[in-house]
Amino acid sequence: MQQKARFAAIIAAAGRGERAGAGLPKQLRLLRDRPVLTWSVEALLKAGAGEVVVVIPPDQEAACRAALGPLPARFVAGGASRTESVRAGLTAIDSAEVVLIHDAARPGLTPAVIARLLAALAAGAEAAAPALPAADALWRTDAEGRSLASVVRAGLMQVQTPQAFPLERLRAAYAAAPADAVFDDDLAVLRSDGGAAVFVAGDRRLMKLTYEEDLAMLELLMGGETCVGTGFDAHRFGPGGHVTLCGVRIAHERGLIGHSDADAGWHALVDAILGALGEGDIGAHFPPSDPRWRGADSAVFLRHACDLTAAAGARITHVDITLICEQPKLSPHREAMRARTAEVLGIALARVSVKATTTEGMGFAGRGEGLAAQAVATLDRPRL
Ligand code: MG
Repeated sequence: MQQKARFAAIIAAAGRGERAGAGLPKQLRLLRDRPVLTWSVEALLKAGAGEVVVVIPPDQEAACRAALGPLPARFVAGGASRTESVRAGLTAIDSAEVVLIHDAARPGLTPAVIARLLAALAAGAEAAAPALPAADALWRTDAEGRSLASVVRAGLMQVQTPQAFPLERLRAAYAAAPADAVFDDDLAVLRSDGGAAVFVAGDRRLMKLTYEEDLAMLELLMGGETCVGTGFDAHRFGPGGHVTLCGVRIAHERGLIGHSDADAGWHALVDAILGALGEGDIGAHFPPSDPRWRGADSAVFLRHACDLTAAAGARITHVDITLICEQPKLSPHREAMRARTAEVLGIALARVSVKATTTEGMGFAGRGEGLAAQAVATLDRPRL
């Protein structure tokens, strides 16, 4: 574990990434609902990086900072080329034995790749990089794209990032290179100073986002599995002048009886989320016998379900709530309930559905004894 504390990371994110489309630099585009840049910063910090320096276009600091939220990373203004940008990053690193240089456009960074790089350096390598053998036939072409000659594929590697170096060795290589020299990557800088690298097994998920379709491909590669949970709840009508459903207070001649605010819609939803996580039911997490939950705002329960979701590395992709009653009429409040639910869950409005129906006078809801709610939650969870 001591090894972990001694590495720093530089993320090159100064490219404009115009080929990747959507008018946004690719480091700010969303991959599975999170900005591309966030993925690499988080992976490096989780793997134990003591310091992460992100080299960005000078005019994008506010946007990049907003993308990272509370993640601790420092921003440094990049230069005209990747080489110049990494040089700026190397100057900004405080202290570390090892530095990993990574491209922001490769968000599929895994702890296993980082561990392989650190292990290679610990074993005495001068530099290490993840690489995959070239899989397709390779051809040299002329200026018109006509085939000239096939290239022998054996021994050709597709090299990814992060590339790992003892910090002072890479600094020395950059110092030895002409100030205006431009290199394809940092192994090339080291090579120009007489150094050599070893390659460790790369990862298909480290693909570089280059073309518009790459983001969709990576979404699939990094996909988890879909888990669905269902929930049901009912509360009895009693004295009062309003009901609270999906976080919205709705005037009514009667209230709902319950230990908390009796928000049947959100209680069903909490159970649906807990169900998808295999985490029991709302009563197990918030016993009705506990005086802390008397009259409680059910947003507390829903946020708890969200926290458990995040702790499982999962995300809520969709929820669908059906409220069942004759009165009050819920359709005028449906959009407000939907918006409030999306707000508390912290997901897009399009991922939330709230519906209302009656039972045409049948059963306890039909007789107006109470109301019921059912919910379905769909979660995307890391594969077990
Ligand atoms: Mg309930």
